Amino acid sequence: EVSKNAAQLANYKDVWIFAEQRTGKVQNVAFELLAAGKELAEDRGCKLCAVLLGYKVSHLAQELINHGADLVYVLDDPNLGEYEADTYTDALDKLIQKHKPEIILAGATAIGRSFIARTAARVHTGLTADCTGLSIDKESFLLHQTRPAFGGNIMATIVTPHHRPQMATVRPGVFQQGEPDPNRKGKTLFEQLEIVTRELELIRSIRKEDEEGDIAEAEVIVAGGRGMMKGENFVLLEELAKLLGGSVGASRPCVDAGWVPVSRQVGQTGKTVAPKLYLAFGISGAIQHLAGISAADYIIAVNRDERAPIFGIANLGIVGDVMDVLPALIDVVKKTKAGN
Ligand code: FAD
Repeated sequence: EVSKNAAQLANYKDVWIFAEQRTGKVQNVAFELLAAGKELAEDRGCKLCAVLLGYKVSHLAQELINHGADLVYVLDDPNLGEYEADTYTDALDKLIQKHKPEIILAGATAIGRSFIARTAARVHTGLTADCTGLSIDKESFLLHQTRPAFGGNIMATIVTPHHRPQMATVRPGVFQQGEPDPNRKGKTLFEQLEIVTRELELIRSIRKEDEEGDIAEAEVIVAGGRGMMKGENFVLLEELAKLLGGSVGASRPCVDAGWVPVSRQVGQTGKTVAPKLYLAFGISGAIQHLAGISAADYIIAVNRDERAPIFGIANLGIVGDVMDVLPALIDVVKKTKAGN
């Protein structure tokens, strides 16, 4: 019997966020989750806690407190030194069994996606992936987990009434992080749990060159679509991105055609981005693409078809051929940078 009765449900308290760290650096998505979690904890009248897993990561706890955590559970263990789904699942599962959180939020990153679903299955609860809205219902006190459904055509609100914890993932860039307060006080609880030993032996890890300049974190994105016509033309986007200190993004057909790696894909099945400036070259503006850029501050679109849907959401539209506009733009930026 996995469904819980009211008395059992009442044993679960507090909002947890999974504080993803990589190579000893807390990922921005963790701060974004803390900002979202803070509101939930206030509405629920409970604590906001962060879960920090890794090896030699204890010093990161204060950063999480500065961003709003009241309590940080730290599991500092050599077995958690390199990410592995089995050990992370086991660690979070055991923390859940021990402390019974009511809500857990995690980033829909490669790591979050791979072990949060396993954890949810392990503790027999549901999981809503890629939420774009989270709130506490004023009457039922349930977590309302809202996400696009049917290709973004409707928004679905999902609840987990009979199981705990209520679990959800959120893509990086969907929520905004708050200002950290370096004087904020919170508690750190060092846990020592017997977790499963690693099944895999890690020989070495190599950072993929492409991970540099992750589009999910970029302030400027220069993106290309099928209108770029061939993969070789992406060098122009790379040149402009470099000049603007940004990263190159792409629509799905460009990934399918092998012009760019999948890590560059923006949209519903790619990444959600939140740059200050998004430049779209030869992208029509299909709903699945737009789903990934709704948090962009300013969108400039270049398309030769004046009726292209991208112009409906762009702050500035340029009707023209990318092969005319791009070189001209590169030229202007170069001249401006040179002070001419
Ligand atoms: P097109 O729609 O073919 O548009 C090309 C545009 O370039 C046109 O507007 C054209 O006028 C313009 N153009 C052509 N030549 C030039 C030129 N020389 N100069 C200027 N303009 C030019 N798509 C994504 O991007 N991301 C996703 O995550 C994603 N997920 C999906 C998930 C599902 C379940 C489905 C069904 C689809 C998904 N798609 C996604 C695909 C999406 O529906 C569109 O097919 C895709 O976004 C179109 O890409 P595009 O705009 O580059 O190409």
